[in-house]
Amino acid sequence: MSIARNHNFQPDWAKPQNWPERRRAPGYPRRFVVPISIVLIVAVALAFWGFEKGPTWLVWIALAVFLVGHGVVYRLTLSRLRCPKCSKMVTLKGYPESGGFFKFHCRDCNIVWLTGVRVSDDVGD
Ligand SMILES: [Zn+2]
Repeated sequence: MSIARNHNFQPDWAKPQNWPERRRAPGYPRRFVVPISIVLIVAVALAFWGFEKGPTWLVWIALAVFLVGHGVVYRLTLSRLRCPKCSKMVTLKGYPESGGFFKFHCRDCNIVWLTGVRVSDDVGD
């Protein structure tokens, strides 16, 4: 009883038994590596085509494909995760800070799904 008293003033979320469990999300990096590669290949192919024989605007299209494609892939894959346990869609609250990891907290299961995917450090340097 005397030990427990010290913990009474802690908010619920600070109690170790209420900490979310951390688990590795299965298959997460695979889901965006393929679409990102496709976007990259299409963009590079268009840019080459534009430089070599096509009109110059093809290069601009390539740039647009690259930027829009990355945005779309980010929206569809990186920023969301279907909780492997309860199948609820968990979306990212905000882009992780530089050097931070993509992780998703499913509040229903109280599990933080770790992705192992990290935001590169050199953004904005
Ligand atoms: Zn869940």
